[in-house]
Formats: sequence, C-alpha cells, structure tokens
Amino acid sequence: EINGLRENLAKATSEAEHDFLTGVYNRKAFDREFDDLAAQAEEGKTPLCMVMVDIDYFKKFNDEYGHLIGDEVLKMVAKFLKECVKGKDIVARYGGEEFAVILPNTPIKGALIVAENIRRAISSKELKHKATGESFGTVTVSMGVASYRHGADTIPILIKRADDALYRSKRAGRNRVTEEAVASAA
Ligand code: GH3
Ligand code: MG
Ligand code: MG
Repeated sequence: EINGLRENLAKATSEAEHDFLTGVYNRKAFDREFDDLAAQAEEGKTPLCMVMVDIDYFKKFNDEYGHLIGDEVLKMVAKFLKECVKGKDIVARYGGEEFAVILPNTPIKGALIVAENIRRAISSKELKHKATGESFGTVTVSMGVASYRHGADTIPILIKRADDALYRSKRAGRNRVTEEAVASAA
C-alpha cells in the first residue's frame, strides 16, 4: 500500500511540473529551475544562456488546419527541442506557443549553435497527417538568445533581453536566430 501511495505521489508531483500537452516542464517548474541554475552560474561564475522560441504564424496554421492539428505541431516542436539539448538543459512551455530553453554551462556561441540546430530541425520537417498522409507543409520558429551577466543580471532582465532578441527575429522575417543586443561598454 505504501508503495502504491509513493507511486501516486511521484506521479502527481511529476504532473504538477510538466505541461500536459507537450510533456516538457511547465512555467512553474521553469521558474524554479531558472532560479536554481542562475544561482549556480553566479556562484561558480559559469556561463548560462537562455533561448526563447516562438512558432511563426501559428494562428494562421490553427485557422487553416484546426486546433487539434495545431496541438500536434506543439508536440512536434517540443520533441525537437528536447532532442536538440543535453541532459542538464531545461526545456519548458513558457506560454501558448512559446517555449524557453535554459542552457547551463553554455557560453553564447554554444547557445547560438544549439538554437540554429533547433531552427534547422524544425523547419526541415514536413508535417503529415498520420492517418491520411495529408501534408501540412512545414512550420518555422523564431528565437532569441541571451546570456547571463554575472553580478549584474536578474532573471526577469535576462528573459527580457531574450524576448527582445526574439522580436528582432520576427521583424527580420522569422525562421531565424537572433543574439541579444551586445552590452554597451560602460
Ligand atoms: P508570429 O509569427 O508573430 O508569432 O504570429 P503567431 O500567429 O504565431 O502569433 P499570435 O500571438 O498572433 O498567435 C499565437 C497563436 O498560437 C494563437 C493560437 O491560435 C495559438 N495557440 C496558442 N496556444 C495554443 C495551444 O495550446 N494549442 C493550439 N492549437 N494553438 C495554440
Ligand atoms: Mg507568441
Ligand atoms: Mg507565434
């Protein structure tokens, strides 16, 4: 009986931390992990980066093919995100069709490579209906990448820089990776 309760508790704990649709971490778990990883980066003076990911023209995709197919796309994007990162990295669903990735022990150059791998993997996958074989074409994502500034950063400010970079990706035409604006030499 105790083992049964333990299993139920473990399942409930895991469900409380993960997005029910895509299986990646939810926003709450993301916030907690980010606090821990930023504290570790600060303490060890190790690099840490984050990537904000937003699906391009996703409203149009939903309008054209319906929300259920849209949900499958969210699952596909989450799967590629997980496949493109390593063990200690965190993938989370940040909002509706936005994901966030935390890359501990990773300098900006490495993070840009990871983001570019994600971009390429997603954009080259032709989406097909499992049963009918109908093609939905491809989807793309836009990304913004920012790195933690030791002794100066807060998590909200770091997220803001990644977000700003993401919106520059959007404005520049989407399906691309943009690095945060470089800190001006003060
Ligand atoms: P942009 O390229 O500028 O990002 O355009 P967009 O259409 O992706 O952006 P917008 O913010 O206008 O629309 C986001 C859409 O994402 C709205 C909604 O249809 C879709 N979406 C958000 N959450 C979900 C979800 O859980 N399931 C599905 N199927 N769609 C979702
Ligand atoms: Mg969005
Ligand atoms: Mg979008």
